[in-house]
Amino acid sequence: MKALVINCGSSSLKYQLFDMADESVLAKGLVERIGLPGSVLIHRPGDSKVEIQEEIPNHDKAISLVLRALTDAGHGVVKNLAEIGCVGHRVVHGGETFSGSVAITPAVMEALKANIELAPLHNPPNIMGIEACAKLMPNTPQAGVFDTAFHQTMPAEAYIYALPYEYYERYKVRRYGFHGTSHRFVSQRAAELLGAPDAKIITCHLGNGASVAAVKGGKSVDTSMGLTPLEGLAMGTRSGDIDPAILEFIMGKEGLTIGEMSGVLNKKSGVLGISGVSSDFRDIETAADGGNQRAKLALDRFAYAVRKYIGAYAAAMDGADAIVFTAGLGENSAPMRAAICAGLTFLGIELEPEKNSRRGEEIEITKAGSKTRVFVIPTNEELVIARDTVAIAEKAEQ
Ligand code: ADP
Repeated sequence: MKALVINCGSSSLKYQLFDMADESVLAKGLVERIGLPGSVLIHRPGDSKVEIQEEIPNHDKAISLVLRALTDAGHGVVKNLAEIGCVGHRVVHGGETFSGSVAITPAVMEALKANIELAPLHNPPNIMGIEACAKLMPNTPQAGVFDTAFHQTMPAEAYIYALPYEYYERYKVRRYGFHGTSHRFVSQRAAELLGAPDAKIITCHLGNGASVAAVKGGKSVDTSMGLTPLEGLAMGTRSGDIDPAILEFIMGKEGLTIGEMSGVLNKKSGVLGISGVSSDFRDIETAADGGNQRAKLALDRFAYAVRKYIGAYAAAMDGADAIVFTAGLGENSAPMRAAICAGLTFLGIELEPEKNSRRGEEIEITKAGSKTRVFVIPTNEELVIARDTVAIAEKAEQ
């Protein structure tokens, strides 16, 4: 079966078409600047690249262009849409409604809409993508795969905020966690590598967005992101954990509205805020190497926060058998992995520098005999979505 994976953002759309016979990627691409001047589709069938500049006012048009590119006589990879057996959508917030991937039905669409208020920026484009596909491919099964679903196994003590309990009852204000597809994928792989399905694993998804999860026996028991992806680690531009009283203080000093303050916390903070250099860790590492002290401080602060979460999650699970690094920074930055692990000798961690210097490949980077083993495992959220979607489509056929 061929499975199309769609990830709709507010002004962008990413897609990959998999041939699930061997899980190869037939084509992938990106639509940028949806609803803005200069919109473009960059379509990559195999190793080639086609750029299609066209007015793309909405997600309907974006999806129809993607489907046209996939079936085009020249740069297409399938003859017609009937060859695409199923479509899987990344959905950011499943609230408490979804603890796993689901077939899209009218009832599911209602529940997705009910969760919009938990993720007002992310869920509406996800819903638009599903509706556009339903219009253009009405007979093709579709599935929703949620960033939050994997973390629904967290116990109440891990997800409840110490706020008046009515806010949880009335508004479902609680920790949900994100990057669940990635934490699930790499923790399952680590359990396989350990040969221990009941292992205690701490997964560090360190990309532009970053989160840590504690996974015990295949179930998420805690994670660093919260009601929204703003909590937890400092990230590219997000503040992560801060004293909530800072909001009132800075808003008073700078005369900011709550919307402006929220913009500062989401878009101007994190390693960008501390370094003043960039939100991209590569630029910050280069600046730090060149002697920029604020860039060095941003990297040190980031590594320190990851190390503290690892310590906390080792405590949450009464130990850790493995730590996993994944996503852009986790897979590629040997200095960051070394900085995080430097303070973890109490867990019996000793890195093997030669192995840690490798980039972007699945590898154990601890010395033989390390009590807690450390792995780099490249994540592949699209493949997880494709696998889940095929499983759902095949079940529906039976
Ligand atoms: P997302 O999917 O959240 O946008 P990624 O997982 O692609 O993010 O990670 C992107 C980030 O990874 C970049 O911002 C960059 O800081 C970091 N990164 C990628 N490659 C390297 C590298 N070689 N060294 C250091 N950081 C890197």
